[in-house]
Amino acid sequence: MELHMPDNRLLCIAPLQGTQFILNMHAANQSNANATAGGDSAPEGHTWLEWHHALSHASIQALWIMHQQNLVDGMKIIPSPQNFVCKGCIQGKHTSKPLPCESKNKYKEIGDLVVTDLWGPAPIEGKGRLNYYISFTNAATQYSVITFLKDKSEAFNHYRCYAA
Ligand SMILES: [Zn+2]
Repeated sequence: MELHMPDNRLLCIAPLQGTQFILNMHAANQSNANATAGGDSAPEGHTWLEWHHALSHASIQALWIMHQQNLVDGMKIIPSPQNFVCKGCIQGKHTSKPLPCESKNKYKEIGDLVVTDLWGPAPIEGKGRLNYYISFTNAATQYSVITFLKDKSEAFNHYRCYAA
């Protein structure tokens, strides 16, 4: 996977290793350096705002930590304002808090927690006009049941069948 800046400059290359993308900033710094070879004063790295955009709108505090602790390989900062204003963050009105890796609650008994998801209507009508589906996943066993529905109103009946 390649990450690009809004102006199409390559920011970094992130090869998939196992289940994680590994951020390799050196490759991008080199290729950008090559691209600007001959130009002498191109600053190396990116501004805090550029890093904020590149790293999923991470807060300045999070960016600071990543930078201080060398968590992102090759993260070079061009001296720039840290109190930047990001239009995307204002429009989304979200604060950038990392999602917890996993739930703190542990569900041991079957039926402690059932996660359900209703999807539909399908953009194209399927065979038998089954345009919705509902899934029930048991948090304790991770076992899922999926049922196809003609109408959303059937969902509760299917839940009763599932719970029985
Ligand atoms: Zn932002």
